[in-house]
Amino acid sequence: MRSLLAAEIGTRAAEGHIGPASRWFAGTRHIDEVESLCVELLKRLFRCNYAEHRLCASMIGNLAVYTALTRPGDTIMSLAQPVGGHSSNRVDGPAGVRGLRIVDIPVDPEELSVDLDAFSEVARAERPSLVALGASMTLFPYPVSEMAQVVADWGGKVFFDGAHQLGLIAGGQFQDPLREGAAVLTGSGGKTFCGPQSGVMVWDDESLTAPLGEAVFPTLAATHQVNRVAALAAATCELLAFAQPLMAQIVANARTLAVALDERGVPVLGSHRGYTETHQVIADVSSLGGGLEAAQRLARANIITNKNLLPWDRREDWDRPSGLRLGTTEVTRYGMGPAEMTEIAELIASVLVQHEAPESVAPRAKALRASFPYLGYCFD
Ligand SMILES: *Cc1c(COP(=O)(O)O)cnc(C)c1O
Repeated sequence: MRSLLAAEIGTRAAEGHIGPASRWFAGTRHIDEVESLCVELLKRLFRCNYAEHRLCASMIGNLAVYTALTRPGDTIMSLAQPVGGHSSNRVDGPAGVRGLRIVDIPVDPEELSVDLDAFSEVARAERPSLVALGASMTLFPYPVSEMAQVVADWGGKVFFDGAHQLGLIAGGQFQDPLREGAAVLTGSGGKTFCGPQSGVMVWDDESLTAPLGEAVFPTLAATHQVNRVAALAAATCELLAFAQPLMAQIVANARTLAVALDERGVPVLGSHRGYTETHQVIADVSSLGGGLEAAQRLARANIITNKNLLPWDRREDWDRPSGLRLGTTEVTRYGMGPAEMTEIAELIASVLVQHEAPESVAPRAKALRASFPYLGYCFD
């Protein structure tokens, strides 16, 4: 996959849609082959009718969805940043660029899930044309089918932004948004999907194909990095072969890590629901120095996490949030399992709870990583 990113084809322009009649340029026969292969592989992986490969990032996929399925001035509903929402679906991102009016999806902060009763009430009053689900912080599935049923009353649609969960969905280890009633699913190539940084967009309904395809070209993408498309095809092949065991292990590792951290004095969200059903572990480190300080100290110990807003953080806390977000995708690909998750929790607790100097913990983190030199769940 990495060698494909360096391939010569990445310097070639190929605007337009697949097939000689739909390109702006001639000489794209082999590029057509690469792109068709990528699309067919994505369709197979997501068991869907249509797939889009030309998005350089998931954020552009979200902009394509808003371009195709909304009009400026429409009302949409999406998740606010403190409950995990991403700027893509907010006023400071593509949804704002499209001129949409944005209403928050009500969330129960204790259950870390959508408050369905409150949602139904707000949605019936606001009649959003689109509801954007999916978030950068997601521990548990969303009630996609229930929400899709509510908005269907006035022809509204659910759009699932699965940037983070795309690999989990491919491996059957998370909810399956298209089967549950989402009209379109977008996601990132570089998160749990384990591929090149990229955007992916998949859907089933033929009537969406022209608007979504035209939103991509000619509206949002001209040249679209054919080397990236080739690497995305290779990553999709790897997921067709390995997604099920890889994603199951990623989720199992996240649970083990969550329990081990909680036991060692790092409070983790979601304990009453089994901590997590994704690759993520969310710790509340407000009593351990806060998210910014904790992430910076851990980085000095060679442990990379990131600060994260928690549902109860206030606007003025956005730069210094209470949470810490950890993901198990990469450590799992290197072959780490339950014993190593416990060891990682030990290292984290040494820094955050026992206040050991991060520099004295770093050699232990390096040694652990060095004992797993080979990337797994991929072709040689
Ligand atoms: C990361 C993320 C995005 C953006 O993904 P890119 O591929 O980096 O553009 C969009 N939505 C959510 C929920 C994300 O977490």
